[in-house]
Amino acid sequence: MADKIILEEGKLKISDHPIIPFIEGDGVGQDIWKNARAVFDAAVEKAYVGKRQIEWQEVLAGKKAFEETGEWLPDETLATIKDDLIAIKGPLETPVGGGIRSLNVALRQELDLYACVRPVRYFKGIDSPLKNPEKTDIVIFRENTEDIYAGIEWEAGTADAQKVVDFLQKEMGVRKIRFPESSSIGIKPISIEGSERLIRSAIEYALANKLTKVTLVHKGNIQKFTEGGFRKWGYELAQHEYAAELASGKLVIDDIIADNFLQQILLNPERFDVVALTNLNGDYASDALAAQVGGIGISPGANINYLTGHAIFEATHGTAPDIAGQDKANPCSLLLSGCMLFDYIGWGEVSTLITAALERSIAQGIFTADLANGRVAYATSDFCQRLITNL
Ligand code: NAD
Repeated sequence: MADKIILEEGKLKISDHPIIPFIEGDGVGQDIWKNARAVFDAAVEKAYVGKRQIEWQEVLAGKKAFEETGEWLPDETLATIKDDLIAIKGPLETPVGGGIRSLNVALRQELDLYACVRPVRYFKGIDSPLKNPEKTDIVIFRENTEDIYAGIEWEAGTADAQKVVDFLQKEMGVRKIRFPESSSIGIKPISIEGSERLIRSAIEYALANKLTKVTLVHKGNIQKFTEGGFRKWGYELAQHEYAAELASGKLVIDDIIADNFLQQILLNPERFDVVALTNLNGDYASDALAAQVGGIGISPGANINYLTGHAIFEATHGTAPDIAGQDKANPCSLLLSGCMLFDYIGWGEVSTLITAALERSIAQGIFTADLANGRVAYATSDFCQRLITNL
């Protein structure tokens, strides 16, 4: 009998046969999900020899959902994920036009998934633009609900923009808008609550994984109250809630200005363990870091609300329409997101097996076309079969 995962007294309760919903995803989703799932099931079997099993339950979203139900994100899908807490997904096509918002954004907002978590590490054998890519081993905690992503903007030349400019100039005494007549105006909300819950999650992750350093990345030299607030609230939170860990040296908090961070991840990436960033800085840093270990084809991600337990683990790339349905796509992003899922539910043996098998496969020169670079290119299905052999 399979059971739902539940949250009890702030802790996930997971049986030996948990139900986990999955969204296959559009485009290459059809290539990567079925093959990744075979690897997940083989690794669970290898780790627990029949004692544990995942009951994967399909829920619809994206184009497949639209074709079957007329909805891009059916209510039933949201309700199931809300109820079952954890899900894994392939990439979703963002419908263009028609006022339909990005499905990924909708899922994040509906479930208030405030932490975007991206572990970035190097696999030996993959081409990288760095001389010593193995020095990059960083876990990103990007705030996912605030900042300019709140989308509060007024377009230059509109009556609304003028109204905001007038308010700023007349009521708030603002004198620094260089071209008040022709400025678009945007608002950047960053809160104490939003910053604290993200930074607390980053610290908890660091402590749970015996990583010492949590670095607050910000642009507080320019934006004193928003970015500077993120930094200040982070230090205060650590002092209030983690004084013992700080005193014992188990935890070290430091901070760095965002532009210097982008420089240091290239020059001295070993300086960082876990990094906590506001939303926009996190967006830039995620892609930059992914590129330095071999691109987004292998970078996993998860969007998590550690307070409610809700978490969606996902391939970070898009639907790759140019290679969809051709058994060519790289399944690593989804596979490594699955590893994050297994860690999240406490089945670390499974993620250790898959990661080790992946290290072995890549070292043996087994690549999909995107990473082959002149070497033999394996089909998605062959790549996953080799991986299963390597478990
Ligand atoms: P994309 O990531 O789909 O493709 C960019 C390039 O990377 C293409 O050349 C593609 O072939 C390649 N690529 C991507 N994933 C790959 C993989 N696993 N293996 C090998 N090569 C891979 O980005 P895009 O073309 O800008 O977007 C296509 C669609 O995907 C759009 O509808 C977009 O909105 C959507 N999208 C979804 C997500 C998501 O669901 N998380 C993320 C990004 C884009």
